[in-house]
Amino acid sequence: MQEVANFIQGQWVKTGATFDNINPANGKPVAVVHEANAETVHAAVSAAQAAMQGPWGKMPLAKRCQLLYKIADEIERRMDDFVALECEDVGVPEPVARAVFIGRAAHLFRLYADQAKEHMERSYSVDTPDGGKALAYTFHRPKGVVAAIAPWNVPMLLLAFKVAPALAAGNAVVAKPSEVTPRSATLLAEVMQSVGVPDGVYNVVQGFGRDSAGEYLTQHQGVMAYSFTGESTTGAAIMRAAATGLRDVSLELGGKNPAIIFADANLDAVLPGSQMSCFSNTGQICFATERTYVERALYDEYVERLTAVAQSVKIGAPFEAGVQMGPLVSQAHREKVSAAIERAVKDGGELVYGGGIPEFGDERDQGFFIQPTIVTGLPETADFVQHEIFGPVTHIQPFDDEDEVIALATNTAYGLASTIWTQNISCGHRVAAQMQSGLIWLNCWQLRDLRAPFSGHGLSGVGTQGGTESLEFFSDVSTVTLKL
Ligand code: NAD
Repeated sequence: MQEVANFIQGQWVKTGATFDNINPANGKPVAVVHEANAETVHAAVSAAQAAMQGPWGKMPLAKRCQLLYKIADEIERRMDDFVALECEDVGVPEPVARAVFIGRAAHLFRLYADQAKEHMERSYSVDTPDGGKALAYTFHRPKGVVAAIAPWNVPMLLLAFKVAPALAAGNAVVAKPSEVTPRSATLLAEVMQSVGVPDGVYNVVQGFGRDSAGEYLTQHQGVMAYSFTGESTTGAAIMRAAATGLRDVSLELGGKNPAIIFADANLDAVLPGSQMSCFSNTGQICFATERTYVERALYDEYVERLTAVAQSVKIGAPFEAGVQMGPLVSQAHREKVSAAIERAVKDGGELVYGGGIPEFGDERDQGFFIQPTIVTGLPETADFVQHEIFGPVTHIQPFDDEDEVIALATNTAYGLASTIWTQNISCGHRVAAQMQSGLIWLNCWQLRDLRAPFSGHGLSGVGTQGGTESLEFFSDVSTVTLKL
């Protein structure tokens, strides 16, 4: 079985304390992973500190950017290897892994090289009180050693959202992938090494959160900033730890995202969007739609047609032809999602479709599959409507007018993404302006230009990721003003 080690100062470091990495499509172990202890994490941070003192710390921006382009090329060259690992770790259908998980990750390294060249320096001509001129210019310094702590749902892409701007801004990184999906971060280490990224610039520590690599990393005072994606409660714990020493945090957290479907919407366009937003990646997308509000005139038809869509979703393992939905990522996660569905029924919800475990009659029965699930009839206060489930589930509820649906859709402590479907563009803009979320999609879902920033409001995050905002996060800026 494959052994996954930590990657520190260009060396593979085994600790002897291992845990299994499981393929969620059949429940079989595919690798053993060496868990980093406090000393391992300290060694990784020290390696990153040393890299900042070495040639990397002095490398001109243009040369750093050349390395980022090479990383992108090399990820694409090793696309099949990355796709295989990501499919086996997450269970995602292969075309999605290829186009989104890895394809977009490679793109981010190129994008941040481009943006760093454009963005890292600014200058201003200044009028002075004596009628003369001054020149003000900025320079960005890297923060130093930064940590990239990633979740399991889209491992490589979400890691790249941190590592690419961190390196473009000149930092050294200690990456901690999720314990559930440890391998794409490890393969990225091979990529870094093969394109000549200096040792210590990108390090990987493996392990869990509490009393493990995650916590040791957040307690280490050598780390100057944390870019984290994961659950809101974990984000709060990281923020508390980072408060010691006033280290910076950027937190992309959970969501409980609404979709609003007005009666004039074209269901032929809405339904493919709903299928994606409710069921793609088995609902394990922070932007997934778990609350759907449909104008009453369209409600019955929508429930009926989305049910037909849910029934038709092809469930299976990543490399099966035509598969649209893989398993949930782990046994523990399936138990959590199943419990949420059972609770919804106890709370008075109608299980319109799903909730069950599909039977295949082969090794997939040992995997962690679940049916796409549609629930109706719950009160707004129900757990199913208020708390993130992170599975292929949605609750559908009718509404009668615009004010009512705005109140319903914003009745959540989260604020990550909202989707609005209407052919009335004025209505769409009016409602969009009142959504308390960082991302709002009008007549589409998950259409994203990676240059655009995104942020979570409320329990969904602190700070802004993506776009030039990530370069800002990973930099300390200074302004020099020169009287001419
Ligand atoms: P998680 O919070 O359990 O774990 C995320 C990472 O943090 C893992 O690497 C984990 O080992 C580590 N960790 C856990 N506890 C820690 C601690 N105390 N200190 C330091 N590190 C710790 O999240 P998850 O279950 O891996 O991912 C699912 C969550 O991520 C969902 O809530 C989802 O909405 C969220 N998410 C958000 C976005 C976004 O952009 N807003 C994107 C994807 C996923």
